[in-house]
Amino acid sequence: MDCLFCKLVAREIPADILYEDDQVIAFRDISPQAPTHVLIIPKRHISTLNDLQEEDCALVGRLQFTAQKIAKTLGIAEEGYRVVMNCNEQGGQTVYHIHMHLLGGRSMTWPPG
Ligand code: 5GP
Repeated sequence: MDCLFCKLVAREIPADILYEDDQVIAFRDISPQAPTHVLIIPKRHISTLNDLQEEDCALVGRLQFTAQKIAKTLGIAEEGYRVVMNCNEQGGQTVYHIHMHLLGGRSMTWPPG
C-alpha cells in the first residue's frame, strides 16, 4: 500500500520517533505548527476516522493516552495542549492514515481555522 505513514512505521522513511509500542508510534511532525507538534498514529493502516470499527475503540483510546503521556514527558501537560484529528478534505486531512496531532508550547486560539 502506498501510504506515507505505513512507510514510516516500516522505517522506510526516517522520522524523529518519540514513542513506540506494539500498536502505536509517535513522531515529530515534519512541518510543526507549534513549538511542540507530535503525531500519534496506529501502526495498522486505517485511512480515515470514518473507517473506524467498534473494535478500534481501545486503539483510539491508546492514541489519546499516548498523547497525554508524551505531553507530560515533554513538559507541556501543565500549561496545556491541544489534540486534533482531521477527517477528509474539509477537515483538513492530507495524509490518509489516521493520526492524532499533539500541539503545545504556545497558546492556542479558538475556534481553529
Ligand atoms: P493532516 O493534515 O493529514 O491532519 O496532517 C498530516 C501531517 O503530517 C501534517 O501536519 C504534515 O506536516 C505531516 N507530515 C507530512 N509528511 C510527513 C513526513 O514525511 N514526516 C512527518 N514526520 N510528518 C509529515
